[in-house]
Amino acid sequence: MTQASLIDGKAFSADLRGRIATHVARLKEEHGITPGLAVVLVGEDPASQVYVRSKGKQTVEAGMASFEHKLPADTSEETLLAKVRELNEDPAVHGILVQLPLPKHLDSDLVINSIDVAKDVDGFHISNVGLLATGQKSLVPCTPLGCIMMLKAELGDLSGKEAVVIGRSNIVGKPMAQLLLAESCTVTIAHSRTADLAGTVRRADIVVAAVGRPQMVPGEWIKPGATVIDVGINRVPKEDGEGHRLVGDVDFASAKEVAGAITPVPGGVGPMTIACLLSNTLTACCRANGIPEPE
Ligand code: NDP
Repeated sequence: MTQASLIDGKAFSADLRGRIATHVARLKEEHGITPGLAVVLVGEDPASQVYVRSKGKQTVEAGMASFEHKLPADTSEETLLAKVRELNEDPAVHGILVQLPLPKHLDSDLVINSIDVAKDVDGFHISNVGLLATGQKSLVPCTPLGCIMMLKAELGDLSGKEAVVIGRSNIVGKPMAQLLLAESCTVTIAHSRTADLAGTVRRADIVVAAVGRPQMVPGEWIKPGATVIDVGINRVPKEDGEGHRLVGDVDFASAKEVAGAITPVPGGVGPMTIACLLSNTLTACCRANGIPEPE
């Protein structure tokens, strides 16, 4: 049996970020416009701090303006909503991202839905969700956007393919299913109550695993030749007991013996997520200024 080819998210991400930087340079030169991304971080969650730092760094590397707003963990809802309003009105800001999860006393839905829809580069605003579901122009959540880009690059036309998405979260599973449906796949969304998960996954030409359970999808569930996109990021103890390593929701070692192509963890979906955030910021900036969007 031949081994699956690796879908190299790092290379895809580097390529996408390079193309974005070229567009940004052209926007500056031809229109005098610099796309700006504002990230709001409430509290001191260590993982969120790492993400926000990384987003800021890559934003600047792409030639965009990065605005970081760090607010204390006990920030009131009123103060946070006022910050979002300020950013909504700021013409230098084309994209706004409120880093999730928010501290428990804050209503995430209320905060996200207070972001100007046209600046909602995470694509979580209820109006962007509705626009995506009805096939209209929207801002698409970054992780699923990265997955669909890699799938189209790997497989070309996706129409008619059987796709199974494991996970039905608002940030990954559901928008992923919408994107696959928009590409005319036959889509099944599986979740914790799915009766025969193994049988469901076995039908799939495309498997997207977004569960958050380390290595739960074994190779024996995968249809030979299928394309496997592993969204999961799980920290597990190393075999020697020294520290941790990252694994996906798919058992990579057995799945790569059966699949046609597969994303590794790390180095698959993860690197594409921030690149897609930059892509959405560029898109939002072009739309705000009536400039044709990059392809
Ligand atoms: P959620 O916890 O919000 O959703 C998990 C989904 O998996 C739920 O729909 C749940 O079903 C389903 N599920 C749980 N257990 C099972 C099971 N035994 N069988 C089938 N389905 C099950 O997670 P997210 O969508 O936010 O994230 C999923 C994974 O993706 C995580 O590992 C996360 O770290 C990673 N992630 C990676 C990103 C990246 O950039 N690469 C970005 C975002 C997330 P139910 O609804 O029935 O409870």
